[in-house]
Amino acid sequence: MATFRQRALNEAATHMSERFFVEKGPVSSYFGQNVFDQKIMRRYMSQPAYEAVLSAVEKGTKIDRSVANEIASGMKNWAIERGATHYTHIFQPLTGATAEKHEAFVSVKDGQAFEKFSGSALVQQEPDASSFPNGGLRNTFEARGYSAWDPSSPVFILDETLCIPSVFVSYTGEALDMKVPNLKSLQALSNSATAVANLFDPSVKSVSVNLGLEQEYFVVDEALYNARPDLVLCDRTVIGHTAAKDQQLSDHYFGAIPSRVEAFMKDFETEAYKLGIQLETRHNEVAPNQFECAPVFCEATKAIDQNMLLMIVMQKVSEKHHLKVLFHEKPFDGVNGSGKHCNWSMRTDSNVNLLSPGKTTAQTMQFLAFYSSVLKAVHDYHFLLMTSVCTLSNSYRLGGHEAPPAIMSVFSGSTLSKVFDSIIKTKCLPKDKAIKESIKIVASVPEIFPDNTDRNRTSPFAFTGNRFEFRAVGSSMNVAGAAFVINSIVAESLKKFKSEVDALEAKGESRSDAIMDVVRNFIIDAKSIMFEGNGYSREWQEEAAKRGIKAVTNVPDAFDIYKDKETISLFENLGVLTSAEISSRYEVLNETYVKKLQIEARVMGDICLNHVIPASVTYQNILMQSIKGAKEVFGNEYADICKSDIDTYKKISSYVNSLSSDVESLVEARKKANVIESISERAKVYSRDVQDQMAKVRNSADHLEMLVDDELWPLPKYRELLFF
Ligand code: ADP
Ligand code: MG
Repeated sequence: MATFRQRALNEAATHMSERFFVEKGPVSSYFGQNVFDQKIMRRYMSQPAYEAVLSAVEKGTKIDRSVANEIASGMKNWAIERGATHYTHIFQPLTGATAEKHEAFVSVKDGQAFEKFSGSALVQQEPDASSFPNGGLRNTFEARGYSAWDPSSPVFILDETLCIPSVFVSYTGEALDMKVPNLKSLQALSNSATAVANLFDPSVKSVSVNLGLEQEYFVVDEALYNARPDLVLCDRTVIGHTAAKDQQLSDHYFGAIPSRVEAFMKDFETEAYKLGIQLETRHNEVAPNQFECAPVFCEATKAIDQNMLLMIVMQKVSEKHHLKVLFHEKPFDGVNGSGKHCNWSMRTDSNVNLLSPGKTTAQTMQFLAFYSSVLKAVHDYHFLLMTSVCTLSNSYRLGGHEAPPAIMSVFSGSTLSKVFDSIIKTKCLPKDKAIKESIKIVASVPEIFPDNTDRNRTSPFAFTGNRFEFRAVGSSMNVAGAAFVINSIVAESLKKFKSEVDALEAKGESRSDAIMDVVRNFIIDAKSIMFEGNGYSREWQEEAAKRGIKAVTNVPDAFDIYKDKETISLFENLGVLTSAEISSRYEVLNETYVKKLQIEARVMGDICLNHVIPASVTYQNILMQSIKGAKEVFGNEYADICKSDIDTYKKISSYVNSLSSDVESLVEARKKANVIESISERAKVYSRDVQDQMAKVRNSADHLEMLVDDELWPLPKYRELLFF
């Protein structure tokens, strides 16, 4: 057998199930031990310093430099006691990943070594960060980017390094990361939502967002992964014939977890617990070797940072197990892709979930105010919201096997739908019996939902009882990219809600009448985004188009929404992004798209020329020997005797010929695209010409995989990658 694949398979067979991170005692005895949380803070700093941090976390107040020194010293003492030698500002540049540059605590003066960490080092760093994507916001001669501590997310220790969650901004203060717009959108949402909540309860001071992020992922053996250049370089297979059996029997979903993976899960859960990540569920997903874990929801910034951290922890722990975790949205064609369901809700400072239907009429009206505002937001900005999850990798997943389509819609469930119909038909709440009747139904919603009978898993944006679940987010994404859009559009919608209620009240309407009128108007406005049926069906695609709901059919085309006046004024008015920041993001999105596709296309060409064609030709030579031998022995009868060999030889020739000319055309398509000056135009040409050509290449390569002797095939096959 081809030695590379054979060696990989032999090595994979030696990898056993084993635990590496085992802690004594119950989880509660080590949960959060590597987090500098409030309890630990109190032990390591004075009351004023502790209060300064608390106020920064809760109210966003600035931390004074003098206090910063004391905070830094407390952090350092705690970190050193726990074995840390370095510190780093960990930030989230526009690459979508996290970035860190470690600095040693140790300092030597007059031959004496001591550990040093000042307040200014805690508060701000200037990493030599000129290579991060910035979409033209910085010129290299003034390439300074600053990372600054974000106290709203806890400091922690990972691998002997004190990690300080940070924002990343340019010298002139523009956002160069995913975190800043998200923090600003949370503030904008809090402002608008508090104003609406005050219509019902004047004591509400702020509103925050809760996120629960379910993480799907694939796991493959490390030796097999290393034998696939496409997995190593692109995180996905660019060629590979589907296995005879994959997910058709649904026997993997919720099945017994393979023991190697279970050991891996237990190990990364242990490490996550130490970092204060409250993982709650683990299970097999639909595709073979696909799994999911979910933490308990928490405040948005923390939830996102913890998700980014969890992905790092999973990757690190997987190495011990000789496994590779794939966060890519579509590592394997023909089976389900992976998402990161984003459960989103709003909560007041007094801990009231504003998306909880409630029992009393007042609570129900409040619920309807917030619910209708979300509906209107998703309706008015449906294309922007869908675009927020558009990346090259997620485009392979959306609309594919059991993934939401790239068409936005909201699922509310039959009970709420009836309520909305009733609100539309009859006018205002208090006077009408029918509405009162329907309100009773709303009040019973909490009892109806928990049994999960009223759920629609085909909807990209579904209400699940007390939160919305945005299911189109991709598994590899930094959720901040989608969350800041949800927060912003809902903030905008709530702003409108408040001003419309104010206007009606000014005209003399009672508050409750005014609220119900605006709820009704918002529901009417948003009617076309509501869809209760099968989101995966072709009928829905046609129906959505009729309703004016725009689908994302091409990713770089979709990015153009960031150039729309409406988008720019939305983010500018809310103070979330300036127009310069938006256009920088637009550039980065296009650039990343092109670069990733360019890498995939190159890898595909290389694999075909260096692996697929040589193996195919080797097999052809074997066939030729057999045909020649038959001719020597049987004379003219050889053609009948070797019919199958001759047929196979010819088929291989035909695929090899088309493969090599398709690879050539792929290179040509890339070269032609590469000279296009405008990055957005280049991305559009890549998405069409380069991707079309890649599909042709893959078709021939996958046919050859079926024709060539298994012994000679150099790349681990799907059936080997996907089953333990
Ligand atoms: P399912 O797969 O059925 O959607 P999971 O238990 O896998 O359910 O995930 C549900 C996620 O939603 C969890 O992270 C959970 O903590 C989170 N969640 C529950 N309630 C809320 C809420 N009010 N706001 C945000 N997230 C929530
Ligand atoms: Mg879910």
